[in-house]
Amino acid sequence: MKVLITGSSGLVGNSIKKSDKKSDIEFIYWSSKDCNLLNYEEVYNKLIELQPDIIVNLAANVGGLFKNLNKNVEMFEDNIQMNMNILRLSKKIGVKMVISCLSTCIFPDKTEYPIKEEYLNNGIPHYSNNGYAYAKRFIDIYTGLMNVENSETLFVNLSPTNIYGENDNYNLNDAHVIPALIHRGYLSSGGEFEIKGSGKALRMFIYSDDLAKIILEFINFYAEDKLNKMKDLINITRENQLNYNFIVADKDEITIKYIAEIIAEQFNINKLTFNTNYPDGQYRKPVDNTRLKELFKLYNKNLEFVDFKEKLIETCNYFKNNYNNIRK
Ligand code: NDP
Repeated sequence: MKVLITGSSGLVGNSIKKSDKKSDIEFIYWSSKDCNLLNYEEVYNKLIELQPDIIVNLAANVGGLFKNLNKNVEMFEDNIQMNMNILRLSKKIGVKMVISCLSTCIFPDKTEYPIKEEYLNNGIPHYSNNGYAYAKRFIDIYTGLMNVENSETLFVNLSPTNIYGENDNYNLNDAHVIPALIHRGYLSSGGEFEIKGSGKALRMFIYSDDLAKIILEFINFYAEDKLNKMKDLINITRENQLNYNFIVADKDEITIKYIAEIIAEQFNINKLTFNTNYPDGQYRKPVDNTRLKELFKLYNKNLEFVDFKEKLIETCNYFKNNYNNIRK
Protein backbone atom coordinates (compact mmCIF):
# COMPACT_ATOMS: atom_id res chain seq x y z
CA MET A 1 0.00 0.00 0.00
CA LYS A 2 1.27 3.47 -0.92
CA VAL A 3 0.50 6.39 1.40
CA LEU A 4 1.20 9.95 0.29
CA ILE A 5 1.67 12.55 3.03
CA THR A 6 1.31 16.16 1.84
CA GLY A 7 2.55 19.00 4.06
CA SER A 8 5.33 16.66 5.19
CA SER A 9 7.80 19.44 6.06
CA GLY A 10 5.36 20.89 8.61
CA LEU A 11 4.68 20.23 12.28
CA VAL A 12 2.43 17.19 11.89
CA GLY A 13 4.16 15.87 8.74
CA ASN A 14 7.45 15.66 10.61
CA SER A 15 5.77 13.77 13.45
CA ILE A 16 4.44 11.22 10.96
CA LYS A 17 7.94 10.87 9.46
CA LYS A 18 9.45 9.90 12.80
CA SER A 19 6.62 7.54 13.93
CA ASP A 20 6.92 3.78 13.90
CA LYS A 21 5.15 2.46 10.86
CA LYS A 22 4.17 -0.87 9.38
CA SER A 23 6.83 -2.15 7.04
CA ASP A 24 4.32 -3.23 4.39
CA ILE A 25 3.27 0.38 3.80
CA GLU A 26 5.33 2.66 1.56
CA PHE A 27 5.24 6.28 2.70
CA ILE A 28 5.88 9.12 0.22
CA TYR A 29 6.41 12.62 1.59
CA TRP A 30 5.61 15.84 -0.27
CA SER A 31 6.48 19.38 0.77
CA SER A 32 5.78 22.33 -1.54
CA LYS A 33 9.18 21.68 -3.15
CA ASP A 34 8.10 18.17 -4.22
CA CYS A 35 4.76 19.34 -5.57
CA ASN A 36 3.11 22.75 -5.51
CA LEU A 37 -0.45 21.86 -4.61
CA LEU A 38 -1.68 25.22 -5.93
CA ASN A 39 -0.77 24.10 -9.44
CA TYR A 40 -3.47 21.78 -10.83
CA GLU A 41 -1.38 20.50 -13.76
CA GLU A 42 1.56 19.65 -11.52
CA VAL A 43 -0.61 17.85 -8.96
CA TYR A 44 -2.41 15.97 -11.73
CA ASN A 45 0.79 14.77 -13.42
CA LYS A 46 2.50 13.76 -10.18
CA LEU A 47 -0.53 11.94 -8.77
CA ILE A 48 -1.08 10.03 -12.02
CA GLU A 49 2.54 8.92 -11.87
CA LEU A 50 2.48 8.02 -8.17
CA GLN A 51 -0.97 6.35 -7.92
CA PRO A 52 -1.20 6.45 -4.11
CA ASP A 53 -3.76 4.26 -2.31
CA ILE A 54 -4.17 6.72 0.56
CA ILE A 55 -3.48 10.46 0.84
CA VAL A 56 -3.01 12.20 4.18
CA ASN A 57 -3.61 15.78 3.19
CA LEU A 58 -1.83 17.94 5.76
CA ALA A 59 -0.69 20.77 3.48
CA ALA A 60 -2.21 24.13 4.33
CA ASN A 61 -1.54 27.81 4.59
CA VAL A 62 -1.87 28.00 8.38
CA GLY A 63 -0.96 30.40 11.20
CA GLY A 64 -1.95 32.09 14.43
CA LEU A 65 -4.18 35.07 15.17
CA PHE A 66 -2.04 37.77 13.54
CA LYS A 67 -1.42 35.87 10.32
CA ASN A 68 -5.13 35.11 10.06
CA LEU A 69 -6.07 38.75 10.65
CA ASN A 70 -3.57 40.11 8.14
CA LYS A 71 -3.86 37.46 5.43
CA ASN A 72 -7.51 36.37 5.44
CA VAL A 73 -7.84 36.57 1.63
CA GLU A 74 -4.59 34.72 0.91
CA MET A 75 -5.48 31.97 3.40
CA PHE A 76 -8.92 31.56 1.85
CA GLU A 77 -7.56 31.39 -1.71
CA ASP A 78 -4.61 29.09 -0.99
CA ASN A 79 -6.48 26.62 1.15
CA ILE A 80 -9.47 26.42 -1.20
CA GLN A 81 -7.20 25.89 -4.20
CA MET A 82 -4.82 23.33 -2.62
CA ASN A 83 -7.66 21.27 -1.23
CA MET A 84 -9.77 21.49 -4.36
CA ASN A 85 -6.85 20.17 -6.42
CA ILE A 86 -6.06 17.28 -4.08
CA LEU A 87 -9.63 16.24 -3.34
CA ARG A 88 -10.88 16.49 -6.91
CA LEU A 89 -7.91 14.60 -8.32
CA SER A 90 -8.09 11.93 -5.59
CA LYS A 91 -11.57 11.14 -6.77
CA LYS A 92 -10.52 11.27 -10.42
CA ILE A 93 -7.62 8.84 -10.09
CA GLY A 94 -9.39 6.50 -7.64
CA VAL A 95 -7.42 7.04 -4.42
CA LYS A 96 -8.98 4.71 -1.83
CA MET A 97 -8.99 7.02 1.18
CA VAL A 98 -8.15 10.69 1.77
CA ILE A 99 -7.64 11.99 5.30
CA SER A 100 -7.85 15.79 5.50
CA CYS A 101 -7.21 18.09 8.45
CA LEU A 102 -9.85 20.58 9.50
CA SER A 103 -9.48 22.34 12.87
CA THR A 104 -11.62 23.05 15.92
CA CYS A 105 -10.86 26.77 15.38
CA ILE A 106 -13.11 26.82 12.29
CA PHE A 107 -16.26 26.03 14.30
CA PRO A 108 -18.84 28.78 14.93
CA ASP A 109 -17.71 31.61 17.16
CA LYS A 110 -20.97 31.43 19.08
CA THR A 111 -21.85 27.83 19.74
CA GLU A 112 -22.89 25.32 22.34
CA TYR A 113 -20.10 23.74 24.41
CA PRO A 114 -18.57 21.24 24.36
CA ILE A 115 -18.26 21.53 20.59
CA LYS A 116 -19.44 18.48 18.62
CA GLU A 117 -18.77 17.60 14.98
CA GLU A 118 -22.32 18.38 13.89
CA TYR A 119 -22.10 22.04 15.01
CA LEU A 120 -19.57 22.94 12.31
CA ASN A 121 -21.87 24.84 9.97
CA ASN A 122 -24.34 26.16 12.56
CA GLY A 123 -22.91 29.69 12.66
CA ILE A 124 -20.22 32.01 11.40
CA PRO A 125 -16.57 31.56 12.48
CA HIS A 126 -14.67 34.17 14.49
CA TYR A 127 -14.05 37.22 12.24
CA SER A 128 -10.28 36.94 12.72
CA ASN A 129 -10.00 33.67 10.78
CA ASN A 130 -12.90 33.84 8.33
CA GLY A 131 -10.70 33.06 5.33
CA TYR A 132 -9.00 29.98 6.80
CA ALA A 133 -12.21 28.74 8.45
CA TYR A 134 -14.44 28.94 5.38
CA ALA A 135 -11.75 27.34 3.20
CA LYS A 136 -11.53 24.44 5.68
CA ARG A 137 -15.32 24.19 6.00
CA PHE A 138 -15.37 23.78 2.23
CA ILE A 139 -13.48 20.49 2.73
CA ASP A 140 -16.26 19.30 5.02
CA ILE A 141 -18.98 20.21 2.51
CA TYR A 142 -17.14 18.91 -0.55
CA THR A 143 -16.03 15.60 1.00
CA GLY A 144 -19.49 15.09 2.48
CA LEU A 145 -21.03 15.39 -0.98
CA MET A 146 -18.42 13.12 -2.53
CA ASN A 147 -18.87 10.45 0.17
CA VAL A 148 -22.48 10.17 -0.95
CA GLU A 149 -21.88 10.19 -4.68
CA ASN A 150 -18.62 8.33 -5.01
CA SER A 151 -18.23 4.87 -3.59
CA GLU A 152 -14.60 4.44 -4.72
CA THR A 153 -12.87 7.07 -2.56
CA LEU A 154 -13.55 7.45 1.15
CA PHE A 155 -13.02 10.98 2.49
CA VAL A 156 -12.33 11.28 6.24
CA ASN A 157 -11.71 14.55 8.07
CA LEU A 158 -9.94 15.10 11.37
CA SER A 159 -10.55 18.27 13.41
CA PRO A 160 -7.71 18.68 15.90
CA THR A 161 -7.50 21.32 18.61
CA ASN A 162 -4.37 23.52 18.80
CA ILE A 163 -1.36 21.37 17.93
CA TYR A 164 2.10 21.86 19.48
CA GLY A 165 5.44 20.09 19.10
CA GLU A 166 9.02 20.34 17.98
CA ASN A 167 8.79 21.24 14.30
CA ASP A 168 6.32 24.06 14.79
CA ASN A 169 6.39 27.48 13.18
CA TYR A 170 7.93 29.82 15.80
CA ASN A 171 7.66 33.02 13.75
CA LEU A 172 6.55 35.78 16.14
CA ASN A 173 4.07 37.22 13.63
CA ASP A 174 2.62 33.97 12.30
CA ALA A 175 2.82 31.45 15.15
CA HIS A 176 0.08 29.76 17.18
CA VAL A 177 -0.12 30.41 20.92
CA ILE A 178 2.36 27.80 22.29
CA PRO A 179 5.20 28.35 19.76
CA ALA A 180 4.72 32.13 20.06
CA LEU A 181 4.96 31.95 23.87
CA ILE A 182 8.03 29.68 23.69
CA HIS A 183 9.79 32.08 21.33
CA ARG A 184 8.86 35.14 23.41
CA GLY A 185 9.89 33.31 26.60
CA TYR A 186 13.25 32.47 25.05
CA LEU A 187 13.81 36.11 24.04
CA SER A 188 12.95 37.18 27.62
CA SER A 189 15.39 34.68 29.18
CA GLY A 190 16.62 35.86 32.58
CA GLY A 191 14.34 38.94 32.48
CA GLU A 192 10.65 39.89 32.54
CA PHE A 193 8.08 37.95 30.51
CA GLU A 194 4.79 39.74 29.87
CA ILE A 195 1.69 37.78 28.82
CA LYS A 196 -1.09 39.62 27.02
CA GLY A 197 -4.34 39.04 28.96
CA SER A 198 -5.09 37.61 32.40
CA GLY A 199 -3.85 34.10 31.54
CA LYS A 200 -7.13 32.66 32.83
CA ALA A 201 -8.49 31.56 29.44
CA LEU A 202 -8.67 27.79 28.98
CA ARG A 203 -7.66 26.05 25.76
CA MET A 204 -7.19 22.47 24.55
CA PHE A 205 -3.98 21.17 22.94
CA ILE A 206 -2.73 18.05 21.23
CA TYR A 207 0.91 17.03 20.87
CA SER A 208 1.80 16.59 17.18
CA ASP A 209 3.21 13.06 17.75
CA ASP A 210 -0.14 12.04 19.29
CA LEU A 211 -1.98 13.35 16.24
CA ALA A 212 0.47 11.50 13.98
CA LYS A 213 -0.25 8.24 15.85
CA ILE A 214 -4.00 8.77 15.46
CA ILE A 215 -3.60 9.40 11.72
CA LEU A 216 -1.58 6.18 11.39
CA GLU A 217 -4.33 4.31 13.25
CA PHE A 218 -6.86 5.53 10.68
CA ILE A 219 -4.62 3.99 8.01
CA ASN A 220 -4.56 0.72 10.00
CA PHE A 221 -8.35 0.82 10.42
CA TYR A 222 -8.66 1.19 6.66
CA ALA A 223 -6.33 -1.75 6.11
CA GLU A 224 -8.38 -3.82 8.59
CA ASP A 225 -11.90 -3.41 7.17
CA LYS A 226 -11.99 -0.38 4.84
CA LEU A 227 -13.34 1.57 7.83
CA ASN A 228 -16.69 -0.19 7.64
CA LYS A 229 -17.13 -0.08 11.42
CA MET A 230 -16.72 3.69 11.21
CA LYS A 231 -19.49 4.02 8.66
CA ASP A 232 -21.96 2.49 11.12
CA LEU A 233 -20.90 4.98 13.78
CA ILE A 234 -21.46 8.20 11.88
CA ASN A 235 -24.78 9.96 11.95
CA ILE A 236 -25.80 11.67 8.78
CA THR A 237 -25.67 15.25 9.98
CA ARG A 238 -27.27 16.99 7.03
CA GLU A 239 -29.67 15.41 4.61
CA ASN A 240 -27.84 13.36 1.98
CA GLN A 241 -24.42 14.28 3.26
CA LEU A 242 -22.03 11.79 4.85
CA ASN A 243 -19.54 13.72 6.94
CA TYR A 244 -16.84 11.47 8.29
CA ASN A 245 -15.46 14.14 10.58
CA PHE A 246 -13.76 13.45 13.93
CA ILE A 247 -12.80 15.99 16.57
CA VAL A 248 -9.30 15.03 17.74
CA ALA A 249 -8.58 16.22 21.26
CA ASP A 250 -7.19 15.26 24.62
CA LYS A 251 -9.60 15.66 27.55
CA ASP A 252 -7.81 18.43 29.48
CA GLU A 253 -8.37 22.16 29.31
CA ILE A 254 -5.26 24.16 30.14
CA THR A 255 -4.92 27.79 31.19
CA ILE A 256 -2.58 30.13 29.35
CA LYS A 257 -1.16 30.95 32.81
CA TYR A 258 -0.13 27.31 33.37
CA ILE A 259 1.61 27.25 29.97
CA ALA A 260 3.35 30.57 30.64
CA GLU A 261 4.58 29.37 34.06
CA ILE A 262 6.12 26.20 32.59
CA ILE A 263 7.79 28.19 29.80
CA ALA A 264 9.01 30.84 32.28
CA GLU A 265 10.71 28.12 34.32
CA GLN A 266 12.52 26.74 31.24
CA PHE A 267 13.97 30.15 30.37
CA ASN A 268 14.81 31.28 33.93
CA ILE A 269 12.37 34.18 33.76
CA ASN A 270 12.71 36.54 36.75
CA LYS A 271 9.30 38.14 36.58
CA LEU A 272 6.15 36.78 34.89
CA THR A 273 3.37 39.38 34.45
CA PHE A 274 -0.14 39.28 32.98
CA ASN A 275 -1.28 42.47 31.26
CA THR A 276 -5.04 42.63 31.75
CA ASN A 277 -5.34 45.60 29.39
CA TYR A 278 -5.41 42.97 26.63
CA PRO A 279 -8.55 40.84 26.09
CA ASP A 280 -8.56 37.10 26.89
CA GLY A 281 -10.89 36.07 24.09
CA GLN A 282 -13.45 33.35 24.78
CA TYR A 283 -12.95 31.99 28.34
CA ARG A 284 -13.33 28.32 27.35
CA LYS A 285 -13.65 26.43 24.05
CA PRO A 286 -14.08 22.82 25.16
CA VAL A 287 -14.63 20.16 22.52
CA ASP A 288 -16.13 16.68 22.68
CA ASN A 289 -13.99 13.76 21.45
CA THR A 290 -16.65 11.08 22.03
CA ARG A 291 -16.91 10.13 18.36
CA LEU A 292 -13.16 9.46 18.09
CA LYS A 293 -13.16 7.51 21.37
CA GLU A 294 -16.05 5.35 20.15
CA LEU A 295 -14.25 4.67 16.87
CA PHE A 296 -11.10 3.55 18.69
CA LYS A 297 -13.23 1.30 20.91
CA LEU A 298 -14.74 -0.36 17.83
CA TYR A 299 -11.23 -1.30 16.72
CA ASN A 300 -10.18 -2.32 20.28
CA LYS A 301 -7.67 0.51 20.53
CA ASN A 302 -7.10 2.90 23.40
CA LEU A 303 -6.97 6.59 22.71
CA GLU A 304 -3.90 7.68 24.65
CA PHE A 305 -2.27 11.06 25.03
CA VAL A 306 1.13 12.13 26.33
CA ASP A 307 1.62 14.24 29.45
CA PHE A 308 1.23 17.92 28.52
CA LYS A 309 3.80 19.37 30.91
CA GLU A 310 6.47 16.82 30.01
CA LYS A 311 6.08 17.41 26.28
CA LEU A 312 5.92 21.19 26.64
CA ILE A 313 9.23 21.10 28.52
CA GLU A 314 10.71 18.85 25.82
CA THR A 315 9.48 21.26 23.14
CA CYS A 316 11.09 24.23 24.97
CA ASN A 317 14.38 22.30 25.14
CA TYR A 318 14.16 21.42 21.47
CA PHE A 319 13.60 25.12 20.68
CA LYS A 320 16.65 26.14 22.75
CA ASN A 321 18.90 23.47 21.26
CA ASN A 322 17.86 24.09 17.66
CA TYR A 323 17.36 27.85 17.74
CA ASN A 324 19.46 28.50 14.65
CA ASN A 325 17.66 25.96 12.47
CA ILE A 326 14.01 26.11 13.49
CA ARG A 327 11.24 27.88 11.53
CA LYS A 328 11.04 31.40 12.94
P1 NDP B 1 2.58 23.58 8.98
O1 NDP B 1 2.31 25.03 8.76
O2 NDP B 1 3.57 23.18 9.96
O3 NDP B 1 2.97 22.94 7.58
C1 NDP B 1 2.28 23.26 6.41
C2 NDP B 1 2.72 22.33 5.33
O4 NDP B 1 1.96 22.65 4.14
C3 NDP B 1 4.19 22.45 4.97
O5 NDP B 1 4.72 21.15 4.75
C4 NDP B 1 4.17 23.23 3.67
O6 NDP B 1 5.25 22.91 2.78
C5 NDP B 1 2.87 22.71 3.06
N1 NDP B 1 2.39 23.62 2.02
C6 NDP B 1 2.04 24.92 2.17
N2 NDP B 1 1.74 25.45 0.96
C7 NDP B 1 1.90 24.44 0.04
C8 NDP B 1 1.76 24.36 -1.35
N3 NDP B 1 1.38 25.41 -2.10
N4 NDP B 1 2.02 23.18 -1.97
C9 NDP B 1 2.42 22.11 -1.24
N5 NDP B 1 2.57 22.12 0.08
C10 NDP B 1 2.31 23.29 0.72
O7 NDP B 1 1.15 22.88 9.27
P2 NDP B 1 0.79 21.92 10.48
O8 NDP B 1 1.62 20.71 10.41
O9 NDP B 1 0.76 22.75 11.72
O10 NDP B 1 -0.73 21.56 10.15
C11 NDP B 1 -1.09 20.34 9.52
C12 NDP B 1 -2.58 20.39 9.25
O11 NDP B 1 -3.30 20.52 10.50
C13 NDP B 1 -3.01 21.58 8.38
O12 NDP B 1 -4.01 21.15 7.48
C14 NDP B 1 -3.58 22.56 9.38
O13 NDP B 1 -4.56 23.37 8.78
C15 NDP B 1 -4.19 21.63 10.44
N6 NDP B 1 -4.26 22.17 11.79
C16 NDP B 1 -3.16 22.76 12.38
C17 NDP B 1 -3.24 23.22 13.68
C18 NDP B 1 -2.04 23.78 14.40
O14 NDP B 1 -2.19 24.19 15.57
N7 NDP B 1 -0.87 23.81 13.81
C19 NDP B 1 -4.51 23.14 14.45
C20 NDP B 1 -5.56 22.45 13.75
C21 NDP B 1 -5.44 22.01 12.46
P3 NDP B 1 6.58 23.86 2.74
O15 NDP B 1 7.28 23.66 4.06
O16 NDP B 1 7.36 23.31 1.61
O17 NDP B 1 6.08 25.25 2.55
